[in-house]
Parts: sequence; C-alpha cells; structure tokens
Amino acid sequence: MKKIFLIIIPLLFAANAAMGQDFDHYFQDKTLRIDYIFSGTHNTQHIAVDELLVEPRWYGKRKRLADVPVEGNGQIIVRDHKTQTVIYRNSFSTLFQEWQQEPEARHTQKSFENVFLVPMPKDTADITLELRDNRRRVCAGETHQVVPDDILIRPIGYKNVTPFTTLQAAKDTNNCIRLAYLAEGYRAEEMETFIEDARTAMEALFAHEPYKRMRDCFNIIAVKSVSQESGASEPSKGIWRNTALHAHWDTNYSERYLTTSHLKAMHDLLAGTPYEHILVLVNSNRYGGGGILNSYILSTTHNEWSQPVVVHEFGHSFAGLADEYAYEEDEIDMYPLDVEPWEKNITTKVNFHGKWESLIGIDPKAGLFEGAGYKLKGVYRGYEDCRMRTNETPEFCPACQKATQELIDFYIQ
Ligand SMILES: [Zn+2]
Repeated sequence: MKKIFLIIIPLLFAANAAMGQDFDHYFQDKTLRIDYIFSGTHNTQHIAVDELLVEPRWYGKRKRLADVPVEGNGQIIVRDHKTQTVIYRNSFSTLFQEWQQEPEARHTQKSFENVFLVPMPKDTADITLELRDNRRRVCAGETHQVVPDDILIRPIGYKNVTPFTTLQAAKDTNNCIRLAYLAEGYRAEEMETFIEDARTAMEALFAHEPYKRMRDCFNIIAVKSVSQESGASEPSKGIWRNTALHAHWDTNYSERYLTTSHLKAMHDLLAGTPYEHILVLVNSNRYGGGGILNSYILSTTHNEWSQPVVVHEFGHSFAGLADEYAYEEDEIDMYPLDVEPWEKNITTKVNFHGKWESLIGIDPKAGLFEGAGYKLKGVYRGYEDCRMRTNETPEFCPACQKATQELIDFYIQ
C-alpha cells in the first residue's frame, strides 16, 4: 500500500502543477484579437484573416484551456507551432451560418465580419478556424500562423478607451466570468438612461437560477458607447439611423430579428475594457433581439418583454442553449432528425445520454416533450415550458439550469 501511495501522490501533484502553469507557460497576459471575413453561399464557405490586433490584458479563461463546454457551430483552435500541442480552444456560432439557410444564399455570395479573442501566445502559434454544418461535420477549415512580435499586429485599447461603469465587481476578479453591456442607439445625453437600463437587465438575469446563486462569480461593466441618433434602424419602415453599431431589425428579412453585422466596430468600442461576453442594449421600445454563442446578444430595453428577452438571448450566447419553441407557420430544418444536436436542452433522441436524463424519474415534471428547435415533430425538450420557450415563463427549466450551471462550473472551478 505504501508503495502505491508513494507513486500516486507525486504524479497527482505533478499533474496539478502542470495544469496551473499552462497559461503562463504558453501565454502572455494580453489579448490577441483576430478579425476574420467569412464568405460563401448556401453550400460553400471561405475564411480569411482580415487583421490582427493586441489588447492590454486577457479577460477570458485561464484553466481548461484546450477544452470547450459546448461544441458550437465552429471552433477556434490555437496550437503551439513547435510541438503542435493544442493550447487553447473556444467554440462559437455565427450569423453567417444562419444566413446560409436563407433563400438568398442559394444565388448570392455574401461576406460577414467575425471577431475572436484568444490569449496572446508567447511563441509562434498555428491558429485554426473550423466551421461545422448542421450534421456536426467540419465543413470548412483554415489555419494561419501568428508570430507574437509581428510588427503588423495593431495595438488597440491602450488609449482612448470607451468610458465604462462597473455595475458589479466579482468576488474574485482573478477567477470570474466577465460580462459587458454595450450601449447602442443612446446619444451622449442619454447615458444615464443606459446605465439604468443596464442595471435593470442585470437584475433580470440574476432573478433567474442558476445565475442568482452564482451572482458573485460575475464581473459586470456597462460601456458607454455614444450614438449620433437614438434607437436602431428599422428597414421594414424605411428608417435608417446613425448608431454606434449600425444594428437593425429585419435580419434575414425576419421582422423581430435584431442584429448587427459590424463586429469590428463592436470590439473597437470594447477594446481596453474588461470584457468577454457581450450584451448590446438597444435603446428602443420595439420587441426583438438576437443571441449568438460566444459572439454577442442584442436586446431592446424599453419594451414590456425586454427583460425576458435579454435573459433568453443570453441563454443562447453564454450557455449555448437552443430555442425550445416551434411554430406551425415557421418550421425550420435546422436540426436533422437523425443527428443529436450539441445543444444540451434539446434532443432528437439519437444520443440523449448526458443531457437531462438524470432528472427523469426524479423530477415528475421532467420528460421528453415533442416540439423544440423550430420543429413540431422529432425534436424534444425536457419540460412543458421554459425561458427558452416563452416569455411568460418566469424561469429556465431544470434542464437548462443544469446545463448553465455546468457551464459556469467549467469556467470558474
Ligand atoms: Zn429549458
């Protein structure tokens, strides 16, 4: 017995020590921002590097660097050039991939900005971008080399940082999740309203579990980006407004879908602030919003449903949750019925294992309810109702709560 302990203890110690050193071994405490252009049609995709930038600090994860908590519709993978070891990985979804499902994509080639943040490597790194189709197969990939002392990497966020207010400091700012509310469609004289709206949005989030009990883990700022005009553009009404992020309704010709395609402008405004997860608050009383995994959410602030919407969209962008609704007039084939979706709150029953399986039998309300992921048949949710299904429901269903808690644990434990 003694002999076994003597062998095991040093090994465990060595493993822990190595994990703790990974970040400092491979990375500087700076952010490498990579701007990409994704372009293509319904069945082609091209990835090109637009620009490399460096920001003063790194505000993302420092542990479990090579792992992702959810698969996403794409991944960015950083490898140490010499050893080809994966030293960082993150997952994401994009508006480009949503657009690929649109009729326009069958006859038009279009391009989209995408911006990703990774910790700045100490040594030459190979960075791979992968996109996955809705069958979860890698359908596009591009690898480029980054040399950290490349003179063409542009510094940003070292001066002229957009003013911001800290709404809530995390208990441990060395181990926390950083959110930034960003103002869209607020003029300079409306900044007090923006701060008030950001506080309201923050409290809406913390009224929901598991965010409520994990509140201390979140560091939250409100970034006062100034627009020339109030509101956002409303193409179906012929109204275009000059705003900081050029956000607009009618994305993909869907009236309520509010997005921005100006991701470089968004990150320019955030440069130098302590941000990772981005929540854009739009100064409007219209109903609408959008949320894209590890990219951003947009939500209005002065509609009667603004609070549920901001929380719902954050469920997409932060926790990678799927929509749990389906409407007869608006069914979409986003999830093939013979493929298990990676999202943890819906299933096609192809490989249900590890989702909310453990709640069934223990919670009498848990089950497999047909109708989710924009399909009335063949895609299932775990509960009758949820924040990811309707605005009237006051909370996330236990399946979504479980998935979100696992994700928070991934980041902070
Ligand atoms: Zn749910």
